[in-house]
Amino acid sequence: MVLHEETVTCPYCWESITLLVDPSESQVYTEDCFVCCRPILVRSDVDGDYISVQVTQEDLGF
Ligand SMILES: [Zn+2]
Repeated sequence: MVLHEETVTCPYCWESITLLVDPSESQVYTEDCFVCCRPILVRSDVDGDYISVQVTQEDLGF
């Protein structure tokens, strides 16, 4: 399986970070920002070859 690389903006520190997203299924998970180490809530929506990734602060939810 090849992971999908997605560049997002951290919702805490606003740095650009690259996430590796599993393209096999849509999912919601938490990943710590590697710049500020705060927990980013990540949602990936997989639709065929198209993957959209959204991030938000863990406390806020989607
Ligand atoms: Zn950050």
